[in-house]
Amino acid sequence: MTIQKQKQLWLAAPGTILVREDVPVPRPGRGELLIKVKASLTCGTDLKAYLRGHDLIPMPGPFGHEFSGIVTAAGPGVRKFREGDAVMAVHTAPCLSCPYCEKGLYNLCEKIMGAKVLGAFGQYILLPEHIVAVNTFKKPEALSFEEAAFLEPLSCVVHGVERLGTGSQKKASSKKTKNSKNKTDETALIFGAGPIGLLHLLLLKARGVRVAVCALESSRLRLSKQLGAEAVFKPDGFKGPLFARFAPLGADYVIECTGRKEVWEAAPQYVRRGGSVMLFGGLKKGVPVVFSSSRIHYDELALAASFHFCPEDVRQAYRLLAERRIDVSPLISGTYSLSEAESAFKKLAEGKGIKYVIKDGKR
Ligand SMILES: [Zn+2]
Ligand SMILES: [Zn+2]
Repeated sequence: MTIQKQKQLWLAAPGTILVREDVPVPRPGRGELLIKVKASLTCGTDLKAYLRGHDLIPMPGPFGHEFSGIVTAAGPGVRKFREGDAVMAVHTAPCLSCPYCEKGLYNLCEKIMGAKVLGAFGQYILLPEHIVAVNTFKKPEALSFEEAAFLEPLSCVVHGVERLGTGSQKKASSKKTKNSKNKTDETALIFGAGPIGLLHLLLLKARGVRVAVCALESSRLRLSKQLGAEAVFKPDGFKGPLFARFAPLGADYVIECTGRKEVWEAAPQYVRRGGSVMLFGGLKKGVPVVFSSSRIHYDELALAASFHFCPEDVRQAYRLLAERRIDVSPLISGTYSLSEAESAFKKLAEGKGIKYVIKDGKR
């Protein structure tokens, strides 16, 4: 029997993407699904790997981890899906048996990163049994493949927002009415208007939180406004009265989505007493950060961080997309074929665009 070959992008070294045409198409074993990728998305992690390498993306090797597609073959024992099903999935699932999984800290599972799947920038991807069982879903027809591929980044953002407990003031103080949908008095300030900052904006808006965004690029601030940010600032904009008007005490939540040391260190300045800071954007390994201890101690700030997601976060992200409670389509900046995908990364490296769709064939 001849082995079918596929086109797949490989990161050979930082700055070098190979378009390989000789990668064998795997055959699904027990519990596995072979997916024909219909759309994959660029992600900040891919960009970091492209620019300077990444601990979690070995080189040389395939990359890309945000995708949706169609089942082309199901291994023995798969009951939930069959050939021809349109599906959306994430690239990891917890082992369910390590000490962290036993504590319910599934995102911190000792095996979750070791057993992840990369290679969504290709024609086919094989989903292993543990992902098929927990983190794979049928794609609703009304949702495009491009939108469905947002399941992974949105799951990360859901996890962070859940840790902040947004919406709790709403539950305590107001009832839902038809006109004031989910309105709360809660405020959030987001630093960074890349894909993760903007997904936070969409999710917090959907939860009725009033949101301000601080970013460097005017085009991203304009997009933030279009997506519902009540106030937008460049980093020097805080000196004016606008932020004081938006959140006189400081924001209830400050969310760092830039992955920059100076922004991590500045973030606690803008939260109100008793508020929470979410340090979402990862820094380089081992970078020390300095905070004012009196601000944290006397103003009782909560500093939180967020890594990856649990199956419950993925289910929530799936519902948000499937029920169209948030519209991720404005975050798509363009589409590239596998052969032209490097152009997408070059654009991202220049700060152009939010997320690009990579798909086989068409531009
Ligand atoms: Zn991602
Ligand atoms: Zn585990």
